[in-house]
Amino acid sequence: MSFFRDLDHRRQRMVTEQIRGRGITDERVLAAMAAVPRHLFVEEALASQAYEDHPVPIGHGQTLSQPYMVALMSALLEVQPKDRILEIGTGSGYQAAILAAMGAEVFTVERLKPLYQSAKERLPALGFQQIHLRLADGTLGWPEAAPFDKIIVTAGGPAIPVPLVDQLADPGFLVIPVGRERREQRLIRLVKRGGEAKTEDLGAVVFVDLVGAHGW
Ligand code: SAH
Repeated sequence: MSFFRDLDHRRQRMVTEQIRGRGITDERVLAAMAAVPRHLFVEEALASQAYEDHPVPIGHGQTLSQPYMVALMSALLEVQPKDRILEIGTGSGYQAAILAAMGAEVFTVERLKPLYQSAKERLPALGFQQIHLRLADGTLGWPEAAPFDKIIVTAGGPAIPVPLVDQLADPGFLVIPVGRERREQRLIRLVKRGGEAKTEDLGAVVFVDLVGAHGW
C-alpha cells in the first residue's frame, strides 16, 4: 500500500475506533474528521503520527489536540451549517478546518505569528475559503465580527474570558478548558439562552496555556 493510501486508511480507522468507538454520534463531526487530511496540518516528519490517539507537536511549545478531543469539542458545539464560529488558538488550523467542513463560517485567532502565518497559507491551499484568520490576543475576542453562534477555545486559562461571553449570541454555546492550575483543566460548556448563562462540566482535560489579557 502506498504511503498516502495508508494515511487515508489510518484516518478512516481513527474515525471508527477513536471517535465513533468512543460515543461521538454527530454525523457531521464524523464526516468532517473522515474528510479533512489531518496529516497535512503537521510537519511532514510527523505525518505518520497524525492519526494516533494523542496530541501532535506543532512547534513553539504548542500541540494539535488528540483527534478525540477535537471531535468532542466539535460535537459539544452542536454545529449547524452557516453558524458563525469564533475559535481562539488557531495553531495548525486543523480544528478550524473541521468546523468549516461542517459548514460553519469560522473566525480564528492566534497569538503566535509563525503559527498564524503557516495556517494562513495552509487553509486556502487546502480549499478552505470560509475561514478568517487574525493575529491577536484571542481572549479579547473579535469584537468587529461579533456576535458568534458558537465560541471554542483550544487553550486552557484560569477563567472564562468575559469578552468571549459578551460576544456570544443568545442562544449560543462556548466550549473552553478552564483550570486554576496550568496544564490541568476541566472542559466547560457555557450555554447562553434567554439572557442567562449556565455552565456544564464535561470532565478533566489537559491543554496548553491560554496566554493573554484574560488568560495566564
Ligand atoms: N486548535 C489548534 C491547536 C491549538 S494549541 C489546532 O487545531 O491545531 C493552542 C493554541 O492557542 C496555540 O497555538 C497558542 O499559541 C494559542 N493561544 C494561546 N493563547 C492565545 C490567545 N490569547 N489568543 C490566541 N491564541 C492563543
